[in-house]
Amino acid sequence: MKIVDLRSDTVTHPTPEMRGAMYEAEVGDDVFGEDPTVNRLERMAAERLGKEAALFVVSGTMGNLVALLTHCGRGDEAIVGDRSHTYLFEQGGMAALGGITPWVVPNQPDGTLRLQDVEAAVRGDDAHMPRSRLLCLENTHNMCDGTPLTAEYTAQAAELAHSLGLRVHLDGARIFNAAAALGVDVRELVRDVDSVMFCLSKGLCAPVGSMVCGGADFIAQARRSRKVVGGGMRQAGVLAAAGVVALERMADRVGEDHARARRLAEGLAEIPGVEVGPVSSNILYFALMEQVRRTPDEVVEALAERGILMLGREHGRFRAVTHYWITAEDIERTLAAMREAVQ
Ligand SMILES: *Cc1c(COP(=O)(O)O)cnc(C)c1O
Repeated sequence: MKIVDLRSDTVTHPTPEMRGAMYEAEVGDDVFGEDPTVNRLERMAAERLGKEAALFVVSGTMGNLVALLTHCGRGDEAIVGDRSHTYLFEQGGMAALGGITPWVVPNQPDGTLRLQDVEAAVRGDDAHMPRSRLLCLENTHNMCDGTPLTAEYTAQAAELAHSLGLRVHLDGARIFNAAAALGVDVRELVRDVDSVMFCLSKGLCAPVGSMVCGGADFIAQARRSRKVVGGGMRQAGVLAAAGVVALERMADRVGEDHARARRLAEGLAEIPGVEVGPVSSNILYFALMEQVRRTPDEVVEALAERGILMLGREHGRFRAVTHYWITAEDIERTLAAMREAVQ
Protein backbone atom coordinates (compact mmCIF):
# COMPACT_ATOMS: atom_id res chain seq x y z
CA MET A 1 0.00 0.00 0.00
CA LYS A 2 1.39 3.41 -0.96
CA ILE A 3 1.64 5.75 1.99
CA VAL A 4 -0.05 9.05 1.16
CA ASP A 5 2.02 11.47 3.19
CA LEU A 6 0.23 14.80 3.56
CA ARG A 7 2.04 15.87 6.74
CA SER A 8 4.21 18.37 4.93
CA ASP A 9 5.85 19.13 1.59
CA THR A 10 9.19 18.55 3.36
CA VAL A 11 8.60 14.78 3.03
CA THR A 12 9.22 14.97 -0.73
CA HIS A 13 11.98 12.67 -1.94
CA PRO A 14 14.34 13.74 -4.73
CA THR A 15 13.23 12.72 -8.23
CA PRO A 16 15.27 10.20 -10.27
CA GLU A 17 16.54 13.12 -12.36
CA MET A 18 17.78 14.82 -9.19
CA ARG A 19 19.54 11.66 -8.05
CA GLY A 20 21.21 11.42 -11.45
CA ALA A 21 22.34 15.04 -11.28
CA MET A 22 23.66 14.51 -7.74
CA TYR A 23 25.66 11.48 -8.86
CA GLU A 24 27.17 13.37 -11.79
CA ALA A 25 27.75 16.69 -9.98
CA GLU A 26 31.04 18.48 -10.42
CA VAL A 27 32.26 19.58 -7.00
CA GLY A 28 34.91 21.66 -5.24
CA ASP A 29 35.44 23.29 -1.87
CA ASP A 30 32.58 25.74 -1.55
CA VAL A 31 34.15 27.61 1.39
CA PHE A 32 36.88 28.54 -1.11
CA GLY A 33 34.09 29.44 -3.57
CA GLU A 34 35.29 26.60 -5.80
CA ASP A 35 32.26 24.38 -6.11
CA PRO A 36 31.04 24.92 -9.68
CA THR A 37 27.63 23.38 -9.03
CA VAL A 38 26.96 25.53 -5.96
CA ASN A 39 28.10 28.59 -7.91
CA ARG A 40 25.75 27.68 -10.72
CA LEU A 41 22.81 27.20 -8.36
CA GLU A 42 23.51 30.53 -6.66
CA ARG A 43 23.62 32.34 -10.01
CA MET A 44 20.42 30.63 -11.16
CA ALA A 45 18.56 31.46 -7.94
CA ALA A 46 19.62 35.10 -8.03
CA GLU A 47 18.58 35.41 -11.66
CA ARG A 48 15.28 33.64 -11.07
CA LEU A 49 14.36 35.99 -8.21
CA GLY A 50 15.70 39.11 -9.87
CA LYS A 51 18.35 39.75 -7.20
CA GLU A 52 22.07 40.40 -7.59
CA ALA A 53 23.34 37.41 -5.65
CA ALA A 54 22.35 34.31 -3.72
CA LEU A 55 23.70 32.02 -1.02
CA PHE A 56 23.09 28.27 -0.63
CA VAL A 57 22.28 27.33 2.99
CA VAL A 58 21.43 24.10 4.74
CA SER A 59 17.83 24.90 5.69
CA GLY A 60 15.16 27.54 5.77
CA THR A 61 15.80 28.10 9.45
CA MET A 62 19.48 28.74 8.74
CA GLY A 63 18.55 31.02 5.84
CA ASN A 64 16.29 33.17 7.99
CA LEU A 65 18.85 33.26 10.80
CA VAL A 66 21.70 34.19 8.48
CA ALA A 67 19.58 36.98 6.96
CA LEU A 68 18.64 38.31 10.41
CA LEU A 69 22.24 38.15 11.64
CA THR A 70 23.29 40.09 8.55
CA HIS A 71 20.62 42.80 8.78
CA CYS A 72 20.71 43.28 12.56
CA GLY A 73 23.32 43.65 15.27
CA ARG A 74 23.03 42.72 18.94
CA GLY A 75 20.36 44.78 20.66
CA ASP A 76 18.54 45.55 17.45
CA GLU A 77 14.87 44.74 17.00
CA ALA A 78 13.05 42.91 14.22
CA ILE A 79 9.30 43.27 13.66
CA VAL A 80 7.71 39.84 13.10
CA GLY A 81 4.21 38.42 12.80
CA ASP A 82 2.81 36.51 15.79
CA ARG A 83 1.99 33.53 13.51
CA SER A 84 5.26 33.66 11.59
CA HIS A 85 7.55 30.67 11.27
CA THR A 86 10.51 32.80 12.31
CA TYR A 87 8.81 33.76 15.56
CA LEU A 88 7.11 30.44 16.38
CA PHE A 89 9.26 27.66 15.05
CA GLU A 90 12.92 28.67 14.93
CA GLN A 91 13.74 28.36 18.63
CA GLY A 92 13.98 32.13 18.93
CA GLY A 93 17.32 31.84 17.15
CA MET A 94 17.44 35.55 16.41
CA ALA A 95 17.48 36.26 20.16
CA ALA A 96 19.33 33.15 21.29
CA LEU A 97 22.18 33.47 18.81
CA GLY A 98 22.01 37.03 17.51
CA GLY A 99 20.89 39.15 20.47
CA ILE A 100 18.06 40.44 18.27
CA THR A 101 14.74 41.08 19.99
CA PRO A 102 11.52 40.28 18.17
CA TRP A 103 8.71 42.86 18.30
CA VAL A 104 5.56 40.90 17.65
CA VAL A 105 2.68 42.29 15.61
CA PRO A 106 -0.53 40.28 15.00
CA ASN A 107 -0.82 38.50 11.69
CA GLN A 108 -4.14 39.12 9.99
CA PRO A 109 -5.97 35.98 8.73
CA ASP A 110 -4.50 36.58 5.25
CA GLY A 111 -0.94 36.54 6.59
CA THR A 112 -0.41 40.29 6.32
CA LEU A 113 0.64 42.69 9.07
CA ARG A 114 -1.48 45.85 9.20
CA LEU A 115 0.65 48.75 8.08
CA GLN A 116 -0.52 50.90 10.99
CA ASP A 117 0.62 48.14 13.38
CA VAL A 118 4.02 48.09 11.71
CA GLU A 119 4.31 51.84 11.87
CA ALA A 120 3.32 51.87 15.54
CA ALA A 121 5.93 49.19 16.30
CA VAL A 122 8.87 51.24 15.04
CA ARG A 123 10.89 52.78 17.86
CA GLY A 124 11.94 56.38 18.07
CA ASP A 125 15.51 57.56 18.48
CA ASP A 126 15.76 57.07 22.24
CA ALA A 127 18.58 55.64 24.38
CA HIS A 128 16.03 53.60 26.37
CA MET A 129 14.99 51.54 23.41
CA PRO A 130 16.37 48.95 21.05
CA ARG A 131 16.79 50.11 17.45
CA SER A 132 14.13 48.94 14.99
CA ARG A 133 16.07 47.50 12.07
CA LEU A 134 14.05 45.00 10.17
CA LEU A 135 10.56 44.03 9.07
CA CYS A 136 9.99 40.31 8.43
CA LEU A 137 7.19 39.05 6.18
CA GLU A 138 6.23 35.49 5.20
CA ASN A 139 4.94 34.37 1.78
CA THR A 140 3.05 32.06 1.48
CA HIS A 141 1.98 32.24 5.10
CA ASN A 142 2.17 28.74 6.56
CA MET A 143 0.03 29.31 9.68
CA CYS A 144 -2.45 31.60 7.88
CA ASP A 145 -3.90 28.94 5.57
CA GLY A 146 -0.96 29.06 3.15
CA THR A 147 -2.19 32.41 1.87
CA PRO A 148 0.02 34.35 -0.57
CA LEU A 149 0.94 37.98 0.04
CA THR A 150 0.37 40.03 -3.09
CA ALA A 151 3.05 42.06 -4.84
CA GLU A 152 1.01 45.20 -4.05
CA TYR A 153 0.93 44.48 -0.32
CA THR A 154 4.63 43.62 -0.23
CA ALA A 155 5.47 46.82 -2.07
CA GLN A 156 3.39 48.91 0.36
CA ALA A 157 4.87 47.26 3.43
CA ALA A 158 8.41 47.63 2.06
CA GLU A 159 7.85 51.26 1.14
CA LEU A 160 6.65 52.00 4.65
CA ALA A 161 9.52 50.09 6.26
CA HIS A 162 12.11 51.78 4.07
CA SER A 163 10.65 55.21 4.78
CA LEU A 164 11.11 54.49 8.49
CA GLY A 165 14.72 53.38 8.03
CA LEU A 166 14.06 49.64 8.26
CA ARG A 167 15.08 46.90 5.90
CA VAL A 168 12.79 44.05 4.87
CA HIS A 169 13.40 40.31 4.93
CA LEU A 170 10.94 37.92 3.33
CA ASP A 171 10.58 34.35 4.55
CA GLY A 172 9.61 32.98 1.17
CA ALA A 173 9.99 29.30 2.07
CA ARG A 174 7.16 28.66 -0.43
CA ILE A 175 7.57 31.72 -2.65
CA PHE A 176 7.04 29.71 -5.85
CA ASN A 177 3.72 28.54 -4.44
CA ALA A 178 2.82 32.18 -3.88
CA ALA A 179 3.76 33.05 -7.47
CA ALA A 180 1.66 30.15 -8.80
CA ALA A 181 -1.30 31.01 -6.56
CA LEU A 182 -1.30 34.63 -7.72
CA GLY A 183 -0.34 33.92 -11.33
CA VAL A 184 2.60 36.33 -11.24
CA ASP A 185 6.33 36.11 -11.84
CA VAL A 186 8.15 35.41 -8.59
CA ARG A 187 10.29 38.52 -9.18
CA GLU A 188 7.26 40.72 -8.62
CA LEU A 189 6.76 39.25 -5.16
CA VAL A 190 10.32 39.92 -4.02
CA ARG A 191 11.20 43.08 -5.93
CA ASP A 192 10.79 45.43 -2.99
CA VAL A 193 12.39 43.35 -0.23
CA ASP A 194 16.06 43.54 0.72
CA SER A 195 16.46 39.82 1.22
CA VAL A 196 14.43 36.69 0.62
CA MET A 197 14.85 33.08 1.68
CA PHE A 198 13.22 30.23 -0.20
CA CYS A 199 13.33 26.47 0.32
CA LEU A 200 14.46 23.95 -2.28
CA SER A 201 13.56 21.09 0.05
CA LYS A 202 9.79 21.54 0.26
CA GLY A 203 7.51 21.51 -2.78
CA LEU A 204 10.55 21.75 -5.04
CA CYS A 205 11.57 18.22 -3.96
CA ALA A 206 15.31 18.72 -3.37
CA PRO A 207 16.58 16.67 -0.42
CA VAL A 208 18.40 19.53 1.33
CA GLY A 209 18.82 23.26 1.07
CA SER A 210 17.46 26.75 0.90
CA MET A 211 18.60 29.93 -0.81
CA VAL A 212 19.05 33.44 0.54
CA CYS A 213 18.90 36.09 -2.19
CA GLY A 214 19.61 39.81 -2.09
CA GLY A 215 22.06 42.52 -3.10
CA ALA A 216 25.71 41.62 -3.75
CA ASP A 217 26.99 43.38 -0.60
CA PHE A 218 24.29 41.83 1.55
CA ILE A 219 25.08 38.34 0.27
CA ALA A 220 28.81 38.87 0.83
CA GLN A 221 28.05 39.66 4.47
CA ALA A 222 25.54 36.80 4.68
CA ARG A 223 28.33 34.44 3.55
CA ARG A 224 30.22 35.44 6.70
CA SER A 225 27.11 34.92 8.85
CA ARG A 226 26.61 31.48 7.35
CA LYS A 227 30.17 30.51 8.28
CA VAL A 228 29.78 31.55 11.92
CA VAL A 229 26.70 29.38 12.37
CA GLY A 230 28.62 26.42 10.98
CA GLY A 231 26.97 26.49 7.57
CA GLY A 232 30.12 26.59 5.45
CA MET A 233 29.84 23.39 3.43
CA ARG A 234 32.60 21.83 1.37
CA GLN A 235 31.70 19.65 -1.67
CA ALA A 236 28.11 20.82 -1.44
CA GLY A 237 27.68 20.49 -5.21
CA VAL A 238 26.16 17.04 -4.65
CA LEU A 239 23.30 18.82 -2.88
CA ALA A 240 23.21 21.89 -5.09
CA ALA A 241 22.82 19.66 -8.16
CA ALA A 242 19.38 18.64 -6.92
CA GLY A 243 18.61 22.31 -6.32
CA VAL A 244 19.42 23.11 -9.95
CA VAL A 245 16.92 20.48 -11.11
CA ALA A 246 14.42 21.84 -8.56
CA LEU A 247 14.59 25.31 -10.10
CA GLU A 248 14.53 24.01 -13.67
CA ARG A 249 11.78 21.41 -13.33
CA MET A 250 9.78 22.03 -10.19
CA ALA A 251 9.38 25.75 -9.59
CA ASP A 252 6.87 26.21 -12.41
CA ARG A 253 4.74 23.14 -11.72
CA VAL A 254 3.65 23.72 -8.09
CA GLY A 255 0.29 25.04 -9.30
CA GLU A 256 -0.64 21.38 -9.93
CA ASP A 257 -0.32 20.78 -6.19
CA HIS A 258 -2.72 23.66 -5.58
CA ALA A 259 -5.33 22.02 -7.81
CA ARG A 260 -5.01 18.83 -5.73
CA ALA A 261 -5.38 20.82 -2.52
CA ARG A 262 -8.53 22.45 -3.88
CA ARG A 263 -9.98 19.05 -4.82
CA LEU A 264 -9.15 17.78 -1.34
CA ALA A 265 -10.87 20.80 0.20
CA GLU A 266 -13.99 20.31 -1.94
CA GLY A 267 -14.20 16.64 -1.03
CA LEU A 268 -13.62 17.24 2.67
CA ALA A 269 -16.27 19.96 2.75
CA GLU A 270 -18.83 17.37 1.62
CA ILE A 271 -18.11 15.14 4.63
CA PRO A 272 -20.55 15.88 7.49
CA GLY A 273 -18.71 17.22 10.54
CA VAL A 274 -15.65 18.49 8.67
CA GLU A 275 -15.09 22.23 8.45
CA VAL A 276 -12.56 23.28 5.83
CA GLY A 277 -10.54 26.50 5.88
CA PRO A 278 -9.77 28.60 2.82
CA VAL A 279 -7.27 27.10 0.41
CA SER A 280 -5.20 29.18 -1.97
CA SER A 281 -1.97 27.18 -2.31
CA ASN A 282 -0.81 23.71 -1.28
CA ILE A 283 -1.68 24.01 2.43
CA LEU A 284 -5.08 23.14 3.78
CA TYR A 285 -6.38 23.31 7.34
CA PHE A 286 -9.58 21.72 8.52
CA ALA A 287 -11.32 21.01 11.81
CA LEU A 288 -13.86 18.56 13.21
CA MET A 289 -17.18 19.93 14.39
CA GLU A 290 -18.73 18.88 17.69
CA GLN A 291 -21.00 16.32 16.06
CA VAL A 292 -17.95 14.16 15.32
CA ARG A 293 -17.44 11.73 18.18
CA ARG A 294 -13.80 10.98 17.42
CA THR A 295 -10.98 13.08 18.83
CA PRO A 296 -8.45 14.55 16.38
CA ASP A 297 -5.87 12.03 17.61
CA GLU A 298 -8.25 9.16 16.89
CA VAL A 299 -8.90 10.50 13.41
CA VAL A 300 -5.16 10.85 12.73
CA GLU A 301 -4.76 7.24 13.86
CA ALA A 302 -7.68 5.94 11.81
CA LEU A 303 -6.22 7.67 8.74
CA ALA A 304 -2.77 6.23 9.42
CA GLU A 305 -4.27 2.73 9.55
CA ARG A 306 -5.48 3.42 6.01
CA GLY A 307 -2.07 4.62 4.83
CA ILE A 308 -2.86 8.35 5.01
CA LEU A 309 -0.56 10.56 7.09
CA MET A 310 -1.67 13.98 8.35
CA LEU A 311 -0.81 16.27 11.23
CA GLY A 312 -3.40 16.98 13.92
CA ARG A 313 -2.52 20.49 15.05
CA GLU A 314 -3.44 22.46 18.14
CA HIS A 315 -7.14 23.20 18.85
CA GLY A 316 -8.18 20.16 16.84
CA ARG A 317 -7.07 21.70 13.56
CA PHE A 318 -5.61 19.35 10.97
CA ARG A 319 -3.11 20.27 8.30
CA ALA A 320 -2.75 18.59 4.94
CA VAL A 321 -0.08 19.67 2.45
CA THR A 322 -0.04 18.54 -1.16
CA HIS A 323 3.18 18.11 -3.15
CA TYR A 324 4.83 16.48 -6.15
CA TRP A 325 4.33 12.91 -4.95
CA ILE A 326 0.58 13.27 -4.26
CA THR A 327 -1.55 12.17 -7.21
CA ALA A 328 -5.22 12.78 -8.02
CA GLU A 329 -5.87 9.16 -7.04
CA ASP A 330 -4.19 9.72 -3.66
CA ILE A 331 -6.61 12.58 -2.99
CA GLU A 332 -9.61 10.33 -3.71
CA ARG A 333 -8.15 7.66 -1.40
CA THR A 334 -7.67 10.31 1.29
CA LEU A 335 -11.29 11.38 1.00
CA ALA A 336 -12.55 7.79 1.23
CA ALA A 337 -10.37 7.22 4.31
CA MET A 338 -11.62 10.42 5.90
CA ARG A 339 -15.26 9.44 5.40
CA GLU A 340 -14.55 6.26 7.36
CA ALA A 341 -12.33 7.90 9.95
CA VAL A 342 -14.91 10.43 11.15
CA GLN A 343 -17.72 7.89 11.50
C1 LIG B 1 9.72 25.23 6.57
C2 LIG B 1 9.73 26.68 6.81
C3 LIG B 1 10.89 27.32 7.27
C4 LIG B 1 12.12 26.58 7.71
O1 LIG B 1 12.67 25.70 6.81
P1 LIG B 1 13.51 24.43 7.33
O2 LIG B 1 14.24 24.02 6.09
O3 LIG B 1 12.51 23.44 7.81
O4 LIG B 1 14.42 24.89 8.40
C5 LIG B 1 10.84 28.69 7.41
N1 LIG B 1 9.74 29.39 7.11
C6 LIG B 1 8.61 28.80 6.67
C7 LIG B 1 7.42 29.64 6.35
C8 LIG B 1 8.57 27.42 6.52
O5 LIG B 1 7.43 26.84 6.11
